[in-house]
Amino acid sequence: MASEAVYGPVIGGVESVEPHRETAELLDPATNRPLARVALGSAEDAARAMEVAQAAFETSPWSAGDGAQRAKVLLRLAQLLEQQQEEFAVLESRNMGKTLRESRIDVGYVVRTLEYVSGLADKLEGTTIPVPGSRFNYTVREPLGVTVHIAPWNYPLLLAMRSVAPALAAGNAAVLKPASLTPLTAVRFARLAKTAGLPDGILNVVTGPGGRLGEALVRDKRCRSVTFTGSSEVGRRISVLAAERLVPATLELGGKSPIVVLADADLDRAARGVGFGIFGNAGQMCWAGSRLIVHESVRLPLLDKLRGLAEALVLGPGTDDGVEMGPLVSREQESRVLDYVGVAREDGGTIVTGGAKASGPKLADGNFVRPTVVADLPPASRAAREEIFGPVLSVFGFRELDEAVRLANETPYGLFAGLWTRDLAAAHTLARRLEAGTVVVNEPPLTFPQSPFAGFKDSGLGSEQGVAGVASYTRVKNVLLNVGLPKKKA
Ligand code: NAD
Repeated sequence: MASEAVYGPVIGGVESVEPHRETAELLDPATNRPLARVALGSAEDAARAMEVAQAAFETSPWSAGDGAQRAKVLLRLAQLLEQQQEEFAVLESRNMGKTLRESRIDVGYVVRTLEYVSGLADKLEGTTIPVPGSRFNYTVREPLGVTVHIAPWNYPLLLAMRSVAPALAAGNAAVLKPASLTPLTAVRFARLAKTAGLPDGILNVVTGPGGRLGEALVRDKRCRSVTFTGSSEVGRRISVLAAERLVPATLELGGKSPIVVLADADLDRAARGVGFGIFGNAGQMCWAGSRLIVHESVRLPLLDKLRGLAEALVLGPGTDDGVEMGPLVSREQESRVLDYVGVAREDGGTIVTGGAKASGPKLADGNFVRPTVVADLPPASRAAREEIFGPVLSVFGFRELDEAVRLANETPYGLFAGLWTRDLAAAHTLARRLEAGTVVVNEPPLTFPQSPFAGFKDSGLGSEQGVAGVASYTRVKNVLLNVGLPKKKA
């Protein structure tokens, strides 16, 4: 890609990259060299996107029309995306840093999401309700109107489409604000949607800073719902703004997820799963399994396996063949992660492996941090409680199950929990006791477009994915009709 490639807001099917626009330079996280420029949208761009979306919602057949037609367009979009999977994956890896393998999985997930929601577009049914007298009482599901979607940088396309796709399937007009650092695949996706036949104005993308654009979108009187995926701090702010406007807010926020390994677990599988769950995406995952809670009897052998696995990981630019862990998204993120490693050291943690910036050929200029495992950290340490959002695993031992549950549940978060055991009864018992929106047993973090995804406690509000995820972008109207039949004579 030429360094001067410019990406800009796509509003009403037109991308604005006029030369007078204020732009920001995006850097390749593997080299910190210029990658592309992105137009910084203004509050006026946000207002225009909302206006165009509202007009499209009111006039285009998309919203009023047949769900089966929407399904066709969404399926076509899925097919086109699948055909361009490699181009999207390369762009995602260059922009965000993740490995090509990870980006391919992400794009595949978006394809599957589009296919899944397309199957629901013509199945948003109402009910008939028996009431007294000669009345016909029924419900219909209607789209909400203009839906706002604010996405983070760690899975740029996947998390944007996790909410945009169901909103479109339900007949809404969407305005998406990707993260400032990673807007490229969202812009490219909006171009593709046009090719697939999505009417202009039904999917709009505004690029630029969150504080300026995101707030303007939520405050806009045309906003009928907001789905925010990002930090708990900004999520709280969005929740307040949405409450002021009395619009629903779905919040998918941060995590500090526990992985509990019981004494009977298959340790080789568990080590691979735990490693994937914290070093995958260079640890920049909302549901990263960042706290390993392991039975004392297997703590040392598991630590050994994890050390071996961490030290064998091949680091490098995400687009290079054979690379298993890419850089962190930015210098700022790198500093944040290394600062937390410093906190862990100060609080008495032992660095089992990693704990520093990575060095070596192809790593010197990028934001590479070595996969890190910390033992002996007091559970009250900030490094053990706060979201680090990097490849840093803290390890805690336990002897009794109650102790494992207490350790697992003791952070303010509740997004995800992992469990490794061969004991079915223990698996079901613990799955109930762990305070997390998703519990996965004997697998690394895993979800599907058909499974609900929700954060408990400070990890979020509301739920995405699944049938209910599409239904959440509709409102239920009750219609009561007196058909005026004469009363039956006794
Ligand atoms: P962030 O909260 O900084 O930003 C998220 C989005 O909000 C970005 O598009 C940003 O530009 C925008 N934004 C920032 N300030 C805003 C404001 N005042 N008003 C409106 N929008 C604003 O989060 P991030 O750093 O991009 O992403 C990392 C965070 O996201 C982590 O905490 C991670 O756990 C969380 N996350 C959660 C999930 C989930 O499904 N629960 C998934 C991925 C990431």
